[in-house]
Formats: sequence, C-alpha cells, structure tokens
Amino acid sequence: EEIILEVKDLVKHFPMGGGFFGQNQKVVHAVNGINFKVRKGETLGIVGESGCGKSTAGRTIIRLYEPTSGQIIFEGQDVTKAEGNDLLNLRRQMQMIFQDPYASLNPRMTVGDIVGEGLDIHKLASGQARTDRIYELLEVIGLNPEHANRFPHEFSGGQRQRIGIARALSVNPRLIICDEPISALDVSIQAQIVNMLEELQEKLGLTYLFIAHDLSMVKHISHRIAVMYLGRIVELADSFELYKNPQHPYTQALLSAIPIPDPRVEATRKRIVVSGTVPSPIDPPSGCYFRTRCPYVKAVCSEQVPQLKELGSNHVAACHLL
Ligand code: SF4
Ligand code: MG
Repeated sequence: EEIILEVKDLVKHFPMGGGFFGQNQKVVHAVNGINFKVRKGETLGIVGESGCGKSTAGRTIIRLYEPTSGQIIFEGQDVTKAEGNDLLNLRRQMQMIFQDPYASLNPRMTVGDIVGEGLDIHKLASGQARTDRIYELLEVIGLNPEHANRFPHEFSGGQRQRIGIARALSVNPRLIICDEPISALDVSIQAQIVNMLEELQEKLGLTYLFIAHDLSMVKHISHRIAVMYLGRIVELADSFELYKNPQHPYTQALLSAIPIPDPRVEATRKRIVVSGTVPSPIDPPSGCYFRTRCPYVKAVCSEQVPQLKELGSNHVAACHLL
C-alpha cells in the first residue's frame, strides 16, 4: 500500500493570546508530538473533544499554521521545508473543507467566483474554460449551474457545505482535510454529505483526513480512526477494530457515550464514564494527559508519558495498563 502523507513528531505550540513567544509567556500546547501515516485512497478519522488539537493538527499539516517542530511528508515532499511555488503547489494538492459553511464562504462573492477562486490562484483555467469548469463542479456536487450567479446566503447549510466541497475539488486535490464538515448540519443532511464525500473519494481517488468530535460521526466514513486527547494520539486502529475492541480508557469512554441499538451487544459492553472536562492545554498534567479523568489511574501515570504500543495488526494505544 502506498503512503500519501506521513506526520512525524508534529508539535504545534502557540504563545497565549497570539503574538510572539516571550519571557514568562504562557504557551498553548495544542499538538504535542503526533505520528501517523495516511494511505492513498483511505479515510483516516481523527476524533477528540473540542480543544484536543485536531483542527490545529489539520491546519498545521497544510501549513496554514507553521509547525513548532516535526516533519510532514506529502507524496515524498517535505511540506515543512517547502517555500514559494512548491508550497503553493502542495497547498493545491491538500485542500480543506471547514466546519462552518456559513463562515467559510465569502458572503460578497458569487458561488461561481467562490468555486473559481482556486482556478485563478493556481492559474488552472480562464475565460470559457473557467466557466465550463465551474458549471461542471456545481453539477458534480448536485447544484444547478444556473446558481453560479447567486450568493451564499441564498443556500441552505447543506448546499453551502456542497459549495465548500466544490471549491476544494476545483483545483484537483489529492488529499482533503475535512474539519468537522457535518457537525454544524442537521442530522438529515449529515448522511447526504457523507455519502457524497464517499462517492467523490471513489470516483476521484481522494484521500481524506476526517476530523470530528465524536466517534459516531466518523464511524461510517473512516477506514481507520485516530483518537486524540490534549494534542496527543492515544489510540489508532482500523475502524471496525476500534469499535469492537477499544483499548485506551479514553476511547472506551467515548464509545460508552454512543448508544448501541442491539441489546445483545449492549449487554456485553464494558461501559466507562469519565467526569470533568479536558484539562487546559496551557498547563497539561505530567505523565499521561488523561490521568485527571481516568478511572484506572495509578502512580506511574503521573510519572511517565505512556508511549503508543503495538497491540495487534494496525492497532496501537498509549496507556500504562496495556
Ligand atoms: Fe489511565 Fe494511566 Fe492509562 Fe493514562 S496511562 S489512560 S491515566 S491508566
Ligand atoms: Mg475544531
């Protein structure tokens, strides 16, 4: 199998309140050394509560944010070192779809110009070819090409997310980072968007990083799932395996929050419930970041950072119990 993206020891820390790192400046530890590989054509789900660094990781991978340290390799190219035209070209190949289809579309631009902007930036088409391409993209996402002259406010939330998808597709990307693309939509619309993304993946050979805040949202679309907590990956496995055999207490807690319709499965399931909220990334706990909420915490958990351990084929988790 071919690896399209590799993330190595990626760290992203922000000075609190923006600006520069200074003396005594508090630091937001948003992403704290994550490692993973993404296979060509797959969907890797990235799940965690808000503030776990999943969106920051996504933005850092395409260098919307500069990484603090670590390496990002996309199709053999070092994204972290790319500049000028190389960086522009990498950004074309790695597109992003955002959570809020209301905020991410410029309200003063027509849908045609929103979808065509990437064509202009990357000089992919002009004149009639540009217009034809915009019409084609609108058809692909199920909108009438006649809608090219309308403005975003004339569309529903689901339609706006489709426009965001057309904008991402316009430049022929290889990888799309989907940052909670369905979280803001009605439940009835969520499945439509997921189905469309799956069809596009099949048709265009796309690879997705699919970011979400709960496991039920990534279940149907992901081939593999990484669970993040406070800027670290705590477990990563094939989707089916993660649901069937979760090993990290945090993954078990996330799964416990999802109801299972089958009572036979429900009866055999070990439920764990965690209280409280994620600690502040400004002052994360020593050792295992999950120890302030973990029902199984023991002495070693505050002393040593648990490392990801191989638990079987395609399954790793980081916990001192394992
Ligand atoms: Fe819980 Fe300790 Fe495992 Fe962390 S390392 S998840 S605190 S048992
Ligand atoms: Mg987010």
